[in-house]
Amino acid sequence: MSDVRLIVGIDLGTTNSECFVYSTTTNTPELQYLNGSLTGMYPSVILYDQKAEKFIVGQEAKDNEGAKVWREMKIDLGKGEAKKVTIGSQTLNPITFSTIILKYIYEGLQQAYNDPIIETLVITVPADFKDAERQATLKAAHDAGFEPENEIRLINEPTAAALAYGEKLNEAQTLVSFDLGGGTFDVTFLEYDNIDGVRFYQALKTDGLILGGRDFDRKIIDYLYEGYLATDEGKAYKKDVPFKESFYLSAKNLAERIKINLSKTESVSGTDIIKVNGNRIILEYNITRDQFEKMIEGLVDRTIQMTKKVIGEEEVGCILMVGGSTRVPLIKKKIEEAFPNIPRVDDNPDLIVALGACIQASIISNKKESFLNEILTNPLGISVSGDFVKHMLYEGTPIPYEIEERFYRADDGDEVSAFLVQGKDILLESRNNQILGEIVLTGMKNTEAGAPVDIKIRVDNSGMVEVTASEVEEDGAKFFNNFKIGSTMRVQAQNYADLRAQAFEKYKDKTLQDLTAIADEIIEKIEAREEKVPSDHWLLEKLQSGRYGNLEEFKVIVYRADLKTDLY
Ligand code: AMP
Repeated sequence: MSDVRLIVGIDLGTTNSECFVYSTTTNTPELQYLNGSLTGMYPSVILYDQKAEKFIVGQEAKDNEGAKVWREMKIDLGKGEAKKVTIGSQTLNPITFSTIILKYIYEGLQQAYNDPIIETLVITVPADFKDAERQATLKAAHDAGFEPENEIRLINEPTAAALAYGEKLNEAQTLVSFDLGGGTFDVTFLEYDNIDGVRFYQALKTDGLILGGRDFDRKIIDYLYEGYLATDEGKAYKKDVPFKESFYLSAKNLAERIKINLSKTESVSGTDIIKVNGNRIILEYNITRDQFEKMIEGLVDRTIQMTKKVIGEEEVGCILMVGGSTRVPLIKKKIEEAFPNIPRVDDNPDLIVALGACIQASIISNKKESFLNEILTNPLGISVSGDFVKHMLYEGTPIPYEIEERFYRADDGDEVSAFLVQGKDILLESRNNQILGEIVLTGMKNTEAGAPVDIKIRVDNSGMVEVTASEVEEDGAKFFNNFKIGSTMRVQAQNYADLRAQAFEKYKDKTLQDLTAIADEIIEKIEAREEKVPSDHWLLEKLQSGRYGNLEEFKVIVYRADLKTDLY
C-alpha cells in the first residue's frame, strides 16, 4: 500500500459515471481519467466476455454495438432481486450492476494511485431516492471494495451540483438546481450564503421524477421502428414481438447519437445498419429537431410543471442546469419561457455533480470549511388503523433528524406490528408509497388495547432510516425492540428473538430448497388474493429476495409470512 490518501467523489449515473479526487497537492478536486478513459466519463454499461470470463465495463462495453449489455439498471435500485436481468450465463440485479460499475472505478483508483488509502467517499444519488435505493447504493459501494477510513456518505445529486457551483459565488442567493440526467429528473430549491468565506448551503425543497434522456432515446427508437415497419422489408415484422424487443435494444446507441446531434443541428439524416436477432437490417432516417421536439414536449412539460411547483412564490437567484439532458435545446427554451426573469447557468452539466460530491468529501475530511444541510425528500410514517399512514417526518425536514411519537395499540394481544412507510400518500397502498419494513413488538407485557407504544424514527446524514419501537411500562420504563431497516430484514430484538426461535424450531431440518418450496406455496396464496394490500407486495418481495440471502433470515421471513397468510 502506498501512503497516498484520497478523498473521493463519485456520480453514479444512470447513463454515465464520473469520479473526482481531491488533490492535497493542488487543493482542488481533479477529474479522474481511469482505466485509460479519454473523457473521464464512464458509460454505465456492462458486457460479459464469455471467452475471457470477465465483465467489460464502460466505453468498451458501450461500443460493442449489437451485443446484449446491461444498462440503466440504476432505475431499479432498491427493487431487489425482482429486477434481475440474465444475459447468457450471467445474471445481474441492480445492486450487482452498480457494484461492478463502482468496482471498475475502485480498481482504476487502485491502479492509478498504487493501492492508496481512501479517507472519505461521497456518492451522489437522485434526491428522490427512498431508503431502499440508498441502502442498495451503499451496499454496492461496500461490495465494490470501498472501505474508507471516515465514511461513505450519500448526497443528493442536485445538492452536489449546487455545492460545486457555489464555489464561484460570493453573495448570498437562492438557487434552483434543475437536474435532468439519463434516467432521473430532480429539482431542488436551495439557499446559499457566504459568511467571511465560509459557505453555507441549505436545501429547502425538492421533488423528482423517473424521467430522463433514456425516455427521449425511446421516442426516437419508436420513430425508427415505425419507420422500418413502413418499409417493404419491415412489413413482415409488424406483429413480431421478439423482433421488436431486439430492435429496441439494438437501436439504443443510434437513437442516442441522433438525439445528441439534434442538440447541435436542425436535422439529422443517414443510413445505419443495426443487428436485430442476429440479422443486419438497414435503417434510413431523416429527422428534424422540430419533429424531435414534438415527440418529447409532453415529457419536458412535466419537468417544467414540477419546477414551477417547487419554486412556488419564492424569489430565485439563478437556475442551475445539471445533467447531460439539459443540453437539449427545447429544455433551455422551455425554462426561458417559464422563468423569463431568472438567469440560467449551464456550467458543465455532465461533471458538476461528481465535482460537488468530491467537494462534500473534502468538507467531511476537514479540507474545507463549508456547511451543507440536506433535507428529507420523501416523508416517513407508519401504518395505522389498517391501511392508512400516519406521517411522522415530512419532506423538507433537515437531516440528520430524530423523532419519537407515542401510539396506542388498537387491539388486545401480545404482539403489535406496523409498517414503516416512505412516501407522500396517506393511503398505505398508494403506488407512490414504499414499505421499508415491518416493525414488530412481540411478547408485549401489556396485552390490552390502548397500551402505549413509542416509535422513534432516525434519519442519518445520508438520508437512511432506522426505527426503534418500545413498549411503555407503567413506571415509564421502556422495553425496547430495535429494528434496523435494510435491504434484508435485519431484526435484532430482545423479544423478537422469540419469533426467530419459533421460526428456527419449526424449520429446523429444512434446507434452502424446502424453504423455497414453502415460500412458493405462500406466494401462490398471496397472489390468489383479489385485492392486494402493500403488505402483500412487501411479503412477496421478501419471499422472492430472501431466498438468495442468509438461510436463517429466510426462515424468519417464511415463518412471518406463514403466520400472516394463515389469516387469509
Ligand atoms: P448524465 O446522467 O448527466 O450523464 O446525463 C446523461 C444523459 O444526457 C444521457 O441520456 C445522454 O444521452 C444525454 N446527453 C448527453 N449529452 C447530450 C446532448 N448534447 N444532447 C442531448 N442529450 C445529451
